[in-house]
Amino acid sequence: RQSWASDSSDSVISSGSDSDGSLYKVILLGEHGVGKTSLARIFGGVEDCADAEEAGEGNTYDRSIIVDGEEASLVVFDIWDQWLQNHCMKMGDAYIIVYSVTDKVSFEKASELRIQLRRARQTEDIPIILVGNKSDLVRSREVSVDEGRACAVVFDCKFIETSAALHHNVKDLFEGIVRQIRLRKDSKED
Ligand code: GDP
Repeated sequence: RQSWASDSSDSVISSGSDSDGSLYKVILLGEHGVGKTSLARIFGGVEDCADAEEAGEGNTYDRSIIVDGEEASLVVFDIWDQWLQNHCMKMGDAYIIVYSVTDKVSFEKASELRIQLRRARQTEDIPIILVGNKSDLVRSREVSVDEGRACAVVFDCKFIETSAALHHNVKDLFEGIVRQIRLRKDSKED
């Protein structure tokens, strides 16, 4: 396993890990403004906290959640806009590629990111969920649910629409990523 303890920019390794000792690194990818930070903050339980910004860099969120009766520890990285993007492509155990349903360009960018990711991790079967966020903005929608779903089929990943503003489907998204990670882990062990 990659060692994070040696990386001075992070202290996540000191946090809890799940029953089998795993701490899963989940990376958020996507255009600026699609809602990555909003989704990460909901996951981290800090989205309503005005101090969140001051409390630190605030771009990694680490938390254990119970999924299907079993605990899983996730560290969610909202670092795509600031970090070396090549590094992001290499470090994740799972990826959440976000676009905004109100922004066709961000949807096209999501496909590009999927291709980049596939190239960076050619031999690996990494869990990926394509997320169409801002589903609450009905009147400014530019990408239909069907287009999103079809894209996920082409790129062989899961798909969900969310609204960070309404907290709609956000819990399902993070539970979904845990299930995807477990599925692959189980099939490796069999
Ligand atoms: P990031 O740049 O991808 O991290 O995007 P942010 O999380 O910073 O969000 C960019 C803007 O979109 C902010 O003003 C958010 O309040 C807004 N936003 C994020 N998610 C949603 C959503 O689901 N619905 C609506 N209406 N606005 C959202």
